[in-house]
Amino acid sequence: MNRVLVPLHLDGAMPLLGAQAHRLDGQTMGTTWQVRWEAVGPAHAEPVRAAVQEELDLVVAQMSTWLPGSDLDRFNRAPPGTPHTLPEAMAEVLQAALWLAEVSGGAFNPAAGALVNLWGFGPSPRYTDPGFAPPTHEAVQSALRHHDWRALRWDGAHRQVHQPGGLLLDFSAIAKGYAVDRVSRRLTGMGLPHSLVEVGGELRGEGLRLGGQPWWVGLESPPVAQGRQPLPTTRVALHGLCVATSGDYRRVYTHGGARWPHTIDPRNGRPVANGLASVSVLHAECLWADAWSTALTVLGREEGMALATTHRIAALFVQREPDGRLTETLTPAMEELAG
Ligand code: ADP
Ligand code: MG
Repeated sequence: MNRVLVPLHLDGAMPLLGAQAHRLDGQTMGTTWQVRWEAVGPAHAEPVRAAVQEELDLVVAQMSTWLPGSDLDRFNRAPPGTPHTLPEAMAEVLQAALWLAEVSGGAFNPAAGALVNLWGFGPSPRYTDPGFAPPTHEAVQSALRHHDWRALRWDGAHRQVHQPGGLLLDFSAIAKGYAVDRVSRRLTGMGLPHSLVEVGGELRGEGLRLGGQPWWVGLESPPVAQGRQPLPTTRVALHGLCVATSGDYRRVYTHGGARWPHTIDPRNGRPVANGLASVSVLHAECLWADAWSTALTVLGREEGMALATTHRIAALFVQREPDGRLTETLTPAMEELAG
């Protein structure tokens, strides 16, 4: 059986007759980006590439954990007690991240950078470094003293935060989605309303393709154990819609028989271990699809289903059952898209 997800609202705008398909790609944020668009006339590939690069560079310059001197990096290194006025884009992302931190009870936490680093998923040391060892209980307890997002004392009206001392911001679970939204809006603003934008697997589709079809994408699904029934494939029509998938099968390491994915449960300071193989979220804004997929991954299927249902989030949970089977659960909003 195969599943098809279609947005509830379709707008009629069609690509003009004689439009052609174009594609550009590159690297950013430690991963790849790709932009596809359909338009009449010359490709304008150079102005498109320049515009995409400008948007991606802006996000990196403000929000990268990896770029020394980014606004986020400067905040992370700042002395205790210092106030900081954030640039607009970073403030927008922080505001969204703080909202989700509150409603998820800290399952999503933009102040979890110290924990992320301890488990080897920050810039250094990396879990891939020779001799890397997971942190001790004491180290985890110590990092847990510096991840209270409320200590930032966020003042939205003035875009101001305080560095309480040792608090490390990490926007890696939300910045890719935000970058996708920016690039997509920029293309629309340039007169290119029919596009598919992807950064590191997070996608946003706008408008339609030649012939009136939407941008169809397949949801990533976790690998199944040998001899097991594969899951149904799910195809989504990204027409004014975004999708993000968090999975335990990418960026994961094993140590002494344990398996550590790169999503941390900031409530106990440890990598998530709740048997979720993946969570996909569909949303009109990629920032929210990206952030919610991480939040729900931390919460796990039961708590995650409850919160996503309350907030009318379209989510698909894939659970690794103890006997090795994969089972799927859809929120009501996701069921609606499945017709
Ligand atoms: P995925 O594609 O699996 O959702 P992302 O790249 O979107 O992964 O986010 C994972 C990254 O987010 C981690 O590498 C880490 O930097 C950061 N992170 C990990 N756990 C959390 C959390 N609970 N809340 C916010 N950010 C987190
Ligand atoms: Mg994410």
